Amino acid sequence: MPNLNPLEPGVMFWAGRDEPAAIAALGVRCGQMGLAGDTPMTEASAEAWRAALDRHNLTVVTLFAAYDGERYDDIPTVQATVGFVPPATREARVRRTLALSDFAARLGVASVACHVGFIPADLSDPAHQRVLDDVRRVCDHCGALGQSFALETGQEPAAELLEFLHRASRPNLGINFDPANMILYGTGEPIAALRLLRPRLLSVHCKDGLWPDPAQPGALGREVPLGEGAVGIPDFVAALRETGFTGPLNVERETEDRSARYRDLASGVSLLRSLTNR
Ligand code: MG
Repeated sequence: MPNLNPLEPGVMFWAGRDEPAAIAALGVRCGQMGLAGDTPMTEASAEAWRAALDRHNLTVVTLFAAYDGERYDDIPTVQATVGFVPPATREARVRRTLALSDFAARLGVASVACHVGFIPADLSDPAHQRVLDDVRRVCDHCGALGQSFALETGQEPAAELLEFLHRASRPNLGINFDPANMILYGTGEPIAALRLLRPRLLSVHCKDGLWPDPAQPGALGREVPLGEGAVGIPDFVAALRETGFTGPLNVERETEDRSARYRDLASGVSLLRSLTNR
């Protein structure tokens, strides 16, 4: 496994959707790997992934869980379908996350992450306590394997998320900061949010986006190629450097169009290289 440079550009990619060869062809040595809800997590598949990542000299720093039935069409749909919040799928998704932690251990990956869903701000909402219990359960499982657990940001304002992290009271709990999500969900200026959440920062996505249209309540903003949105990527990278963050800068691009996605991942990596001299 190579030693990564501070702020080395990497890519957020998906097992099954992205081949390691295609990721390595972007010229990166690191990234984060997502597993969809139906991706096999057997011992044999862990061995196969380990060999494939080694062959392409790719270091995975985080495994991301996603779950069957999640949809990101607009804010009410996210609230109803994403993460640990929907009651009908809660237990199965927590168990899937624990299995993902075991899978990560087989791959030698020391951090696990997911969107836990919209955490209700109201502490008296039973769903708030349920998510808190679930997060602690995942943290304790990960902790026994020497892993951290990172919550993807965006669905809560930074101050609210920070309070939640304090309340959960687990030393291996932190965040995967996605600056675009703060914009897409309209939850706050990303760089101010980063500074507030910096003590709990485990990993980052480098993604860009445009604010939601205020005339369309419940609509999400639009994700765009890195550097073309409202994040201010040079300022974001400068803030990461200034606050002493040294982990990889993982470009994430969510468009379904494969050729556009790879083109934009490549240009994102190139933008980050120009900003970091890497
Ligand atoms: Mg993200």
